[in-house]
Amino acid sequence: MVNTAAAARRALPSLDRLLGSPAVAELISAYGRSRVTEALRRALDAERERLTDAEASPYEENHFLQSCATALERSSAPSLKPVFNLTGTVLHTNLGRAVMPESAARAVASAMTRPVNLEFDLDGGARGERDSHVERWLKELTGGDKAVAVNNNAAAVYLALNTLALRREVLVSRGELIEIGGAFRIPDIMARAGVKLVEVGTTNRTHLKDFAEAITPRTAAIMKVHTSNYVVQGFTAAVPEPELAKLAHEHQLPFIVDLGSGTLVNLEDYGLPHEPTPRETLAHGADVVTFSGDKLLGGPQAGLLVGRKDLMTRIAKNPMKRALRLDKLTLTALDAVLRLYLHPEKLREELPALRLLTRKPKDIAAQAARVQPVLAATLGENWRVEVCDCKSQIGSGALPVDSLPSSGLAITPVGKKGNLNKLAAALRALPVPVIGHIRDNALKLDLRCLDHEEEFVLQLEKLKTFKT
Ligand SMILES: *Cc1c(COP(=O)(O)O)cnc(C)c1O
Repeated sequence: MVNTAAAARRALPSLDRLLGSPAVAELISAYGRSRVTEALRRALDAERERLTDAEASPYEENHFLQSCATALERSSAPSLKPVFNLTGTVLHTNLGRAVMPESAARAVASAMTRPVNLEFDLDGGARGERDSHVERWLKELTGGDKAVAVNNNAAAVYLALNTLALRREVLVSRGELIEIGGAFRIPDIMARAGVKLVEVGTTNRTHLKDFAEAITPRTAAIMKVHTSNYVVQGFTAAVPEPELAKLAHEHQLPFIVDLGSGTLVNLEDYGLPHEPTPRETLAHGADVVTFSGDKLLGGPQAGLLVGRKDLMTRIAKNPMKRALRLDKLTLTALDAVLRLYLHPEKLREELPALRLLTRKPKDIAAQAARVQPVLAATLGENWRVEVCDCKSQIGSGALPVDSLPSSGLAITPVGKKGNLNKLAAALRALPVPVIGHIRDNALKLDLRCLDHEEEFVLQLEKLKTFKT
């Protein structure tokens, strides 16, 4: 037996012979010589190992090359790719938050492949300011005197604090010491910004006099943080923004507000719950307002600061701005998205984030009714697929306790045969992975964010090979 196995191993082709074969020439043209050589070498080693088992099936060249091709394809595929977000959370941080409009995508494609006047003033022919391209829209849409754009809202908060309060104290209510998504905590950002946090009031109640009593010669600013991912309910009190602004200004202190999501329109006009806007916050007397570009605003990842000219000028001049600044692609996308806001009547149609948030429940239900029989037929008798009511979340810390009525599909195992975790894994393994969530012994797919329905249905075909 040992001799047979040894003979089988000796019968394996040499690497050189394989590299000269026509089938491998195709692989080389697709993946390059070095990667193909490496893949063949590895596969031959594995084959030699496999053949030490006398019972192993003999070497078969077509099969061998096919598995090399599959391995090469897999190892060359991008790991960052489109997915179907059927989690029910529209602005899902782990799934890239806001989906952007085609107009932004086209503008970005052109900015990627051609030179652009990023920091070049076309009127004067001299050096320009990169933020100027979005600043004009931000001023118009918020009423701020000046705007600055950075990598994300965490960076915006950092830059505002580091510029206006370095080595001094900033007052924040104890009810607003938020943590967002694990890594962003207001106290940590303040420490890293070189600012001493002074906690004011209590978790549930903070009064104007708490702030007034905490002001000392070391105080550099008063800050308000929008409690974007939780609510404090019951016996509560917070100081209204206009009163905090007045107190700050009586002491010549800037009043900084971190809005978090910060939409640029009144969401109630679109049938959604109210979320404070930068314009309102500035009107309440805030001197600097920070907010995200990719939450309710519906644009690319960015942090935006608007406010009083003198303070914003200092913020723009902070050397850290260079480290946090936006690149030309993000600025281009942001410009395209902000321009949609100039025409609010068309915003719902043009801005995907708003379109998804305001989809009519009956349209989503109709979509669920269309998809249900296809999925039921694909999964077969071991699974029950039913149209169900869902409650979508806005996500990304916007309006945490409000939910949007939606529809979806609930998949439950019939009898003991179906394994929900395996089914969820099979959906994630599709060419465009499908992400749902398991709850109450069902895999739920909220269809609110199901664009590309045809592509979704077509790829379900691939699930037929899934059996549990
Ligand atoms: C989301 C959020 C942040 C962080 O914003 P990123 O854009 O994710 O960096 C900061 N503050 C508040 C209140 C937020 O909601």
